[in-house]
Amino acid sequence: MNTHQLIKTDREHIWHPYTSMLEPLPVYAVERAEACSIYLKDGRELTDGMSSWWAAIHGYNHPVLNAAAEKQLKQVSHIMFGGLTHEPAVELTQKLLDITPPSLQKVFYCDSGSVAVEVAMKMALQYWIAGGQRDKSKFATIRSGYHGDTWNAMSVCDPETGMHHIFNKALPVHYFAAQPQCRFGNDDVQADLDSMREILEQHHQDIAAVIVEPIVQGAGGMWFYSALYLQELKSMCEHYQVLLIADEIATGFGRTGKLFACEHAGIEPDIMCLGKAITGGYMSFSATLTSTAVAEIISKGQPGVFMHGPTFMGNPLACAVANASIDLLLQSDWQTKVKHIESQLRQGLSACKQLPDVKDVRCLGAIGVVELHEAVDMAVVQKRFVEQGVWVRPFGRNVYLMPPFIITDEEIEKLCKAVYVVVKEEGER
Ligand SMILES: *Cc1c(COP(=O)(O)O)cnc(C)c1O
Repeated sequence: MNTHQLIKTDREHIWHPYTSMLEPLPVYAVERAEACSIYLKDGRELTDGMSSWWAAIHGYNHPVLNAAAEKQLKQVSHIMFGGLTHEPAVELTQKLLDITPPSLQKVFYCDSGSVAVEVAMKMALQYWIAGGQRDKSKFATIRSGYHGDTWNAMSVCDPETGMHHIFNKALPVHYFAAQPQCRFGNDDVQADLDSMREILEQHHQDIAAVIVEPIVQGAGGMWFYSALYLQELKSMCEHYQVLLIADEIATGFGRTGKLFACEHAGIEPDIMCLGKAITGGYMSFSATLTSTAVAEIISKGQPGVFMHGPTFMGNPLACAVANASIDLLLQSDWQTKVKHIESQLRQGLSACKQLPDVKDVRCLGAIGVVELHEAVDMAVVQKRFVEQGVWVRPFGRNVYLMPPFIITDEEIEKLCKAVYVVVKEEGER
């Protein structure tokens, strides 16, 4: 198919994320990708700064992940999980039990991050229903969060940057505490805690769970908050008898410098959602983990089972790749590598601090963020990044990098330079 025709059909018939069908932003046709490079059909090579939204931690077209997929392909690509099981799922479960907080012992496999969040929220509700506390049907969260695009996930996303204003009549209403202002690395959290404490104090009888992204708020604002806040939040949840759901979909598998971001605070949530990097960047997949206590109470109540079971639950192909991806990660010196990426990003992006348009520059693990005073003009900025030979896709006011862990120093330098150039131009326009 020639590129012109491909782009034309795409433009006329295919929705892209958050895009108009009348005036869609331009898209670029990809031929293939390898390691940290994306090759466009027009021959250009782009250095990847996005890991395809946190997922491709080992880069693209990885021989080990390819081999795992090929091997599984020849055995069984998919088989229903009702009444059947298989080695890839059981092996993955053992691996997850080894690396996640020890109290999380029961694993539910689902098809995407948003579904993992739906499942987590449903688990929390069923837990209280089983315990005879039907009133506990609301959720509390902090502002600037992002938990996915499906119905209930959407209802706990930030009410302003999220979709509440559009769907407000149809969305369940939950409780939103102020976003913690205390940065990661600082402990000055007492004032930050007031807002959530007030909500829990007044409404804990109605609240099933608090759901948060631990430490790093991703798509809702790319903000890194104090580990002490998370620690105190966990204590408050225990005090007021609400469950804590940690949405580790973006943060899991080393991205923040710990295998899971909850480790920064030394806490164990009651329910944890995993997604994105669990896939090694290969195919949609996720997991929701919970404790024996939560699982047993759900199972003792009516109707005696957990009410969820997607068609592609425990997909063997996805499990096989997840197993290979986790092995690759654990066998690598990922902690040193992520720390190194952090210091490279810190150094490479520091020049942006001087630019008049820039409000803040922050880095944590393999995440670097340049926050501007105003939202970027996506069409212009995207084109300029491609012209600089990099793939960077800003969101609102944030221009950010979260490259695959296999990235080289030269590639990070190239990404950081491109960010500087494009942000500088953006200020001059
Ligand atoms: C991406 C993301 C989700 C949603 O995952 P999908 O696979 O896109 O449905 C949920 N929570 C967080 C924190 C995310 O970053």
